[in-house]
Amino acid sequence: MAARQLFAPGERDPCHICGKFKGISQAHHVVPLTAQYDRGFKYPDQECVSLCPNHHAIVHLFIHVDGRSMARPAMRARGRTTSALHVDLTDNEFDQMMELVRRSMRSPE
Ligand SMILES: [Zn+2]
Ligand SMILES: [Zn+2]
Repeated sequence: MAARQLFAPGERDPCHICGKFKGISQAHHVVPLTAQYDRGFKYPDQECVSLCPNHHAIVHLFIHVDGRSMARPAMRARGRTTSALHVDLTDNEFDQMMELVRRSMRSPE
């Protein structure tokens, strides 16, 4: 492990959710910039985590950029789409996912 890190000094972080796909992980804004704008953040919050392309796409299915989409019918409709994805997630991965979703709902300080 240590030796491998030595040979790849510029390597990116592994996926926050599955801990894999180090080489192809993408930066994901914990609070999406569009959501920050909608909520009136004065300064953009640049807090990012690394996600593999797969989990990055899934996180965005769970994260909503405006308050309206958190309404119960919208959540239910989305549940049908996302329930198919749950089977691909381990319990731990699902917890990580939900933690990111919670953090994405932060309001400006
Ligand atoms: Zn992943
Ligand atoms: Zn993202």
